Amino acid sequence: MKTKKHLRQAGGAVRYGTTRTRSDLFELLPDEIVITILSKLSSTASSPSDFVAVVVTCKRLNKLGVHPLVLSNAGTGTLAVGAKNWSDEAHRFLKWCVNAGNKEAYYTLGMIRFYCLQNRGSGASLMAKAAIKSHAPALYSLALIQFNGSGGTKSDKDLRAAVALCARAAYLGHVDALRELGHCLQDGYGVRKDVEEGRRLLVQANACELASILRAFNNTPSPSTASPSSAQRPNSGLRSLKDYRCDLPEKKLHPANRFLIEWFGLRGGVPGAGLRMCSDWRCGRPETRKNEFRRCSGCGMVNYCSRGCQAHDWRVHHKLECAPMEEWNHAIDDVEEEQEVAEDLTEEIEGDDDGIHV
Ligand SMILES: [Zn+2]
Ligand SMILES: [Zn+2]
Repeated sequence: MKTKKHLRQAGGAVRYGTTRTRSDLFELLPDEIVITILSKLSSTASSPSDFVAVVVTCKRLNKLGVHPLVLSNAGTGTLAVGAKNWSDEAHRFLKWCVNAGNKEAYYTLGMIRFYCLQNRGSGASLMAKAAIKSHAPALYSLALIQFNGSGGTKSDKDLRAAVALCARAAYLGHVDALRELGHCLQDGYGVRKDVEEGRRLLVQANACELASILRAFNNTPSPSTASPSSAQRPNSGLRSLKDYRCDLPEKKLHPANRFLIEWFGLRGGVPGAGLRMCSDWRCGRPETRKNEFRRCSGCGMVNYCSRGCQAHDWRVHHKLECAPMEEWNHAIDDVEEEQEVAEDLTEEIEGDDDGIHV
């Protein structure tokens, strides 16, 4: 009797002769097994739509798809809600995952609430819950909020708390946190100055980053390995790395950063009157008050939420375009001088012309 009831609930598929047996077998599967399969799916799906496409198939999957065990295992792909598709349903889905104790969901919804929806208290509290569960990006994000006094005034900065959060994130392998900590130790910023230890951490951060780039590079088919000539040479991967050093594979963006970038991109890259975005393209954090972020001391044209973003942007982009303001002033003076000379010459030529004609 129980099976017949489930068959009725399973919907249209059971009415067709050819699918009847398959549906029967599916209905005979215990809930625990279906939940295990759905948990595996939610932890590995590459996008929310991949997960949703399965759970909307029938009532049983729909019901078991929101089981706490399934939602607590949802991975970054399943939680990667796009800013373009932000809706009450998307918000509700993230809340369900939060209620199931999913630390990625704590962090993602925390970032969205703090920076995009400007619900600072709730956003920071969610990130703190992720941080308690040793979520490294959440620890690092909270450290930046403390370093910058985000969501408050300049006097709300708590450098000691920021360094402690950064140290915890660095211990868990977060490279930007490691770099930030290295700079703090070198400068004595929020912590007792230790230049030697700071330098050691910066070298370690560079080594970790290089290792992750090499790992990503070795997993990425390179143009040269596909070319006939490269097949004959050994270590072509390393040679490609050298050849394409301006086009190294980037670390995969966290969905929370991708959401922020997309959210503020849709608003013209302006988070509010007089507020600026972090100039590192992979960050997406906006200022929460005027002049919150540090400026590039070279050109004064770009702003960063952290040294991690500054160091990254410098390596991949800004060093090619940064020029001190004095140089710009000289360049402007040179152009003006050239224009003046050109105008003088034009006058002379015109004068000569007049002379010739007269
Ligand atoms: Zn940033
Ligand atoms: Zn600059």
